[in-house]
Amino acid sequence: MNTLVWVEHDNASVKDATLSAVTAAAQLGEVHMLVAGAGIGGIAEAAAKIAGVAKVVTLDDAAFEHALPENLAPAIVALMGGYDAFVAPATSNGKNIAPRVAALLDVMQISDILSVESADTFTRPIYAGNAIATIQSSDAKKVITVRGTAFEKAAREGGSGAIEAATGGDAGLSSFVGAEIAKSERPELTSAKVIVSGGRALGSQEDFHAIIDPLADKLGAGVGASRAAVDAGYAPNDYQVGQTGKIVAPEVYVAVGISGAIQHLAGMKDSKTIIAINKDEDAPIFQVADIGLVGDLFKIVPELTEKL
Ligand SMILES: Cc1cc2nc3c(=O)[nH]c(=O)nc-3n(C[C@H](O)[C@H](O)[C@H](O)COP(=O)(O)OP(=O)(O)OC[C@H]3O[C@@H](n4cnc5c(N)ncnc54)[C@H](O)[C@@H]3O)c2cc1C
Repeated sequence: MNTLVWVEHDNASVKDATLSAVTAAAQLGEVHMLVAGAGIGGIAEAAAKIAGVAKVVTLDDAAFEHALPENLAPAIVALMGGYDAFVAPATSNGKNIAPRVAALLDVMQISDILSVESADTFTRPIYAGNAIATIQSSDAKKVITVRGTAFEKAAREGGSGAIEAATGGDAGLSSFVGAEIAKSERPELTSAKVIVSGGRALGSQEDFHAIIDPLADKLGAGVGASRAAVDAGYAPNDYQVGQTGKIVAPEVYVAVGISGAIQHLAGMKDSKTIIAINKDEDAPIFQVADIGLVGDLFKIVPELTEKL
């Protein structure tokens, strides 16, 4: 079984989520990588070095520079004659591309897999992660997105895949206008080893930053937020952790003034150590927390930050 893995990159490096997708794909068979973009020679070489990669297929054209799915999907489908499965990380971009590939191939998409049970059987979370479904697909070609936190990352070194060029171009359906990308010195949420997240209890944008940021700085942590904090404007959208936000599994997750609604837990409950700070000792977050501090966050967090 040959599998084509879409490589998510920023023209500087291959994103971590791709490495988890490679581990999943390797359980299906021979792994080939698809590197699409403009001027992507360096990325293709980096992809070829990933452990377990047999081949890298490149689509090097200005039409692929911004990973527009309208251009990528038909180009991927044109390659799928030689593959039994298309695999993408379940990131915003992966989730933008894979459904179009599935639709053009006229197959179901197998979303957000947690494990590969066999060549046609997979597990995936349902009901915000409260149940795990085992699904079997009889489609001749599988289109799969992979939950990054469920698979170890393949090593960046160790492979020696051959690089081969393919062609494709502008499908004429969309054009790139611009991107506003939040810049931060902090580690990216999905790859941060430590995350400090704030909830509705922070009460304002000013207090969110005054309380959460110094603790995150001390810990070299990424900053996350509950949806309530994001909806209230205390934190930007891309901070949101949970079912409709980012799925994270850092070494340490510190939940500050977050109640622990199932939709929030869906995004962070696989974290290795969970520390919860909440004034309500019955808050559901304490059911998943390894360490709990019951008290007023406005007192506890500055004290903790100072002592670190
Ligand atoms: C379809 C759907 C999708 C959703 N997706 C997400 C998602 O992706 N992510 C997400 O987070 N939510 C999501 N939600 C919302 C979720 O249900 C909760 O409403 C939200 O997580 C609550 O955020 P919170 O814990 O910050 O706020 P609250 O539930 O209001 O909790 C605030 C907590 O702070 C504590 N507190 C208050 N004051 C203090 C203090 N001074 N010191 C210490 N503790 C204090 C309180 O005891 C309470 O436990 C979704 C909901 C739906 C319906």
